[in-house]
Amino acid sequence: MHEFDVIKKYFTWDNSPSDVIKSVGDDAAILEIKPDEQLVTSIDTFISGVHFPENTPVDAIGHKALAVNLSDLAAMGATPRWFTLALTLPEIDQNWLTEFSQGLQGLARQYNCFLVGGDTTRGALSITIQVMGVIEKGKALMRSGANVGDALYVTGTLGDAAIGLKTILDNLTLTDSSHTKFCQDRLNKPTPRMTESKIIRDYATACIDLSDGFFQDLGHILKASSCGAEINLAQIPLSKTLSALPIKNAMNAALSGGDDYELLFTIPKSKQQDFEKSIKNRGGGYTCIGRITDQSGCIKNELGEPISAFSDSGYNHFMGSANQKM
Ligand code: ADP
Ligand code: MG
Repeated sequence: MHEFDVIKKYFTWDNSPSDVIKSVGDDAAILEIKPDEQLVTSIDTFISGVHFPENTPVDAIGHKALAVNLSDLAAMGATPRWFTLALTLPEIDQNWLTEFSQGLQGLARQYNCFLVGGDTTRGALSITIQVMGVIEKGKALMRSGANVGDALYVTGTLGDAAIGLKTILDNLTLTDSSHTKFCQDRLNKPTPRMTESKIIRDYATACIDLSDGFFQDLGHILKASSCGAEINLAQIPLSKTLSALPIKNAMNAALSGGDDYELLFTIPKSKQQDFEKSIKNRGGGYTCIGRITDQSGCIKNELGEPISAFSDSGYNHFMGSANQKM
C-alpha cells in the first residue's frame, strides 16, 4: 500500500462540517472562523514506550492521542472543531491502521472534531496531533486568573490512571479484575471533560487540565496567578477502586500521579452556589477541595501545614485528619 492510499483509506473522512472549506487532499486545509470567535490551538506528540506503554491497545492509542489534545481545549473552555495528524509509522500495517483510525474517529465524531489534514512518514512510531477549537472572543480560561478566596474544584476522581499504569508496568495486582480494568481504561481511554468545560467556563477564573499530576499542575495555576492554596486532603476525590487501596498508595497516586485528564479550576465564592447548581443539573462530577490563599506558591493542608510536595509529614497529617473523620 502506498502512502497516498493510506491517507485516502484511513484519514480522508466523509461528512465534513460546513466550516471546513478544504480538507485532506490539497496542500493545506481551509477553515472558516466567525468574526466574534478566537482560534484556540494545542499540539501534543505521542511516542511509543514514552507516552504510552508499547502493549497499549491500538484503538486506545488513537483515542488517547486525540483525547489529551481535547483535554487542553477543555481546560481553556474552547469548543473543538478541527485537528491535523502527523503520523510516523515503522510499516504500513492495515490491521494497525484500522484499529488506530477507529479509536481516533470514534472520539473525534463524539466531540465534532474533524480531521482536516496531516503528514504521513516512515520511522519509529510517533503520533502528533494538533487540535483547533474556537471560543467567544475574550472568554478563554487561563491559568493566570485565580484570585484569593476563590474555591478550588476538581472534576472526576484522581489517581486512577497512575494505578492503571502500575498494573501494567510494575505488575501491581488489584484484588478484583474489574478494578484493574477500570484503572487501565482510565489510563488508556481518558474522557476529555468537554461537557464540564462548557459549564465551568461560565463561572471559573482559572483552569488547567491535570496531565502531570495534581501537585505539579496546581503549581502552574498558583505560579501563573501569584497565589497559594489550601487543600482539604480528605476531600480529594477517590474512585471506589482507589478507596480500597492502602490510603498512602491511593493518595500518592491521586496527588502525584499523571494522566488524569481531569480539570482543576477556581470559582469565586459569590458564584459557587450557581455553579454547583448548574453542573449538578447537567450531570458533571465535581468536588470542592480547597481554596486560593494569598501565600504565593505555598500549598497547605486544611490545618495550615505546608504540603508543597507530598512529604511524609503532609501525608502523616492527612492520615490523622482522615482517621479523625471516621
Ligand atoms: P504535501 O506534500 O503537499 O505536504 P502530502 O502528500 O503530505 O502533501 O499530503 C497530501 C494531503 O494529505 C494533504 O492534504 C495532507 O494534509 C493530507 N495528509 C497527509 N497525511 C495525513 C494524515 N496522516 N492524516 C490526515 N491527512 C493527511
Ligand atoms: Mg504540497
